Amino acid sequence: MEYKRTNGYKDIDKKNMNDIQKFCEDYKKFLNAAKTEREAVNEFEKMAIANGYKNAEDMSMIKPGDKVYYNNRGKNIVLFIAGKEDIEKGVNFVVSHIDSPRLDLKQSPLYEDEELALLKTHYYGGIKKYQWGSIPLALHGVVFLKDGKKVELTIGESDEDPIFVIGDLLPHLASKVQGERKTREVLKGEELRLIIGSVPTKTKDDKNGVKMAVLEKLNADYGIEEEDFLTAELEIVPSFKARDVGFDRGLVASYGQDDRVCAYTSVRAIFDVKKAPKKTLCVFLTDKEEIGSNGSTGLQGQFIEYCMTDFIYKLNGGFNQVAMSRCMWNSKALSSDVDAAVHPVFKEVHDLQNAARLSYGLTLVKFTGSGGKSGSNDCDSEYFSELRRLFNKHDIKWQVSELGKVDEGGGGTIAKYLAQRGVRTIDAGVGVIGMHSPFEITSKYDVYEAYKAYVVFLENA
Ligand code: MN
Ligand code: MN
Repeated sequence: MEYKRTNGYKDIDKKNMNDIQKFCEDYKKFLNAAKTEREAVNEFEKMAIANGYKNAEDMSMIKPGDKVYYNNRGKNIVLFIAGKEDIEKGVNFVVSHIDSPRLDLKQSPLYEDEELALLKTHYYGGIKKYQWGSIPLALHGVVFLKDGKKVELTIGESDEDPIFVIGDLLPHLASKVQGERKTREVLKGEELRLIIGSVPTKTKDDKNGVKMAVLEKLNADYGIEEEDFLTAELEIVPSFKARDVGFDRGLVASYGQDDRVCAYTSVRAIFDVKKAPKKTLCVFLTDKEEIGSNGSTGLQGQFIEYCMTDFIYKLNGGFNQVAMSRCMWNSKALSSDVDAAVHPVFKEVHDLQNAARLSYGLTLVKFTGSGGKSGSNDCDSEYFSELRRLFNKHDIKWQVSELGKVDEGGGGTIAKYLAQRGVRTIDAGVGVIGMHSPFEITSKYDVYEAYKAYVVFLENA
């Protein structure tokens, strides 16, 4: 009669543990290779092609059983398996995001002060800015040269590379300048400046000798000139690698697990769907979630309509809006995103009876938002209970979760943008400690359980 929940690690044997560890070795490799949304798309596209997926844009028709993908401007990737059933019956969607909080370079970033060369940044997404001081940072992104040639940069990841650092102030001298500042201002936005050079040119009359030396190096190595920065898209991310946490290696710490943990597990899930599906399956990886899902690569944009229209057109040998509307209205989705897990030191921010715990399985979140559920999808009981029966039938360990106590804070996901298109949607994901920090912690048990849950959902929902 009474509902009880337990730690998933208690129920597993040695074989399960080996499966979990093996899966998470691959997961960590992915995290290290995909620290930006562009890199995540590149990795997933390679994996998709290796698993028999074809670019839908190159096809004139799609037939049941076909595996296809769409790549949106290198920042979204969407994988489909065409089902045998009429697409009007709906699609099973698993949707997650591949952008993570970070620092972007300003458009005119480079300057010299006190004979150091620095880059100005503008943070992206919700970060505690002080966490980005005094840690090793890497530079990732794209620069277009004046002739239009694209240069892709990844500097600070291999052991031979230099890294970059945002210097903090020593405690000895910090009390007046930083002592009274609030958390969000310990390092202010305009203070997040990256040290990138210190050796001046030998030319006597160079006023900005260090800046000039950096420009000479960039020009020699990549053909870059200062004006090329103005149109570039360069992201600063932690340079450290994903690592196991604890003597027992039960946890993973890494940058960017929000939300690449759900992206990776959902992509692996669609690859591992066994039988040719009755319904059409879709794993949709979106961008710009951390800044409100705006733009043509965010889920408030029309890319999902673009994909669905093209897919239905090629599958049905023609398109009509009725089929499209029925399809969306009959679809089911997991908005797969991370949630806050209880941190033993800061328990007071949670209602423990409704909070996610590490290693307790997939989190199912009926509503997000803040205040009186403002800005939330608030999944209906019909759909939630259907998923409860599905996951229980397939022995998936799951827990309910709410982001903190009432009026403690809040946050949102892409769930509402799917729901407003008619798709039945619930948030489902993985608990995280230290979300949005440069080194987020998840449980390997939960990572693997999320993967298993996504397979069950795709195959059976
Ligand atoms: Mn997220
Ligand atoms: Mn987030």
